[in-house]
Amino acid sequence: MGYFRDNVERVAGYTPGFQPRATDVVKLNTNENPYPPSPAVMKALAGIRPEQLRRYPDPVGTAFRQAAARIHGVTPENIMCCNGGDDLLSIAIRAFCDAGRPLAYPVPTYTLYPVLAALEDCPTIEVPFDEQFNLPPALVKSGAALTIVCNPNAPSGTCVPIEELASLADELTGVLLIDEAYVDFADRDCIELVREFDNVILLRSLSKGYSLAGLRFGYAIADAALIAGLMKVKDSYNVDAVAIALATAAIEDQPYFKANVEKVRADRAVLTERLIALGFGVLDSATNFVLATVGAKHLSPLPAERIQEKLAKRNIYVRYFDVPGLDDKLRISVGTKQQNDRLLAALKEIVG
Ligand SMILES: *Cc1c(COP(=O)(O)O)cnc(C)c1O
Repeated sequence: MGYFRDNVERVAGYTPGFQPRATDVVKLNTNENPYPPSPAVMKALAGIRPEQLRRYPDPVGTAFRQAAARIHGVTPENIMCCNGGDDLLSIAIRAFCDAGRPLAYPVPTYTLYPVLAALEDCPTIEVPFDEQFNLPPALVKSGAALTIVCNPNAPSGTCVPIEELASLADELTGVLLIDEAYVDFADRDCIELVREFDNVILLRSLSKGYSLAGLRFGYAIADAALIAGLMKVKDSYNVDAVAIALATAAIEDQPYFKANVEKVRADRAVLTERLIALGFGVLDSATNFVLATVGAKHLSPLPAERIQEKLAKRNIYVRYFDVPGLDDKLRISVGTKQQNDRLLAALKEIVG
């Protein structure tokens, strides 16, 4: 065709998880929160006034920045609102990377990173995790302008210790972006690294912990100078008026958020235990999903892909990745108790 830049022509594009149209399904394939957003969010939605839609939104989302700053113990200048966490990834890669300024990250991880890099014609340095998903020491020597560590990592669900991320931030010459999209479900976050280092950006998302994947809202937490630089790259009005109002209501309702997270964490422990009892290998997860390896305990194991297909026939959706290292695994979001029970009953029939 020849209309597109060569790198755009070459890149395959990101494949989002399957979104079935039917709603009477058990949807455990894209890590949505199984519980509804806070009632305060629905109240804020009902309270949107025509004037808020007629005018352009606050370009920096001041109300949200103030609420988030209070909750994280930082200043509003340390926060940048984004149209989903993915918007921040795209802004950061445009801000720091180009053909001569590579992006580095451990693999396997979120497959959006290389797609966004390709769009900037930016070379990628992929450093493999070991079997236990420990942070690869070689990452520090990559010389990349931007290093992304997804922590907790997707799709492994695993965490690396904050001390290791601190020494990575300390030794890197470039910027370290810690993708904390799932950190709401982990034991601890890396907020203290933002206070300690001027080259650390945390990515947060309201899609998982706050049950707002449909709203599209995420944010960056970083040193004020880094935030100011990123602001130059973002779209002027990257978050809309409705999103700012609803995201602010969501983050201000910490009790509701914490209660939901606790339910997911408790059900994650049960799901993990019962998958192991069915013969799957499951690493401890710090997220709202688990990665289940079709295990040696299955006498004649069905390939993971076949198990996924059989589940889909029963209207139960989980995620399968056709890539080396992941093709014997299924990523399963933690659902409600009822959803998890339906999944486990079906799995028992399929592999039992
Ligand atoms: C969900 C997710 C994000 C951000 O998602 P948004 O819906 O755009 O906020 C970022 N990184 C990872 C690894 C994710 O799973």
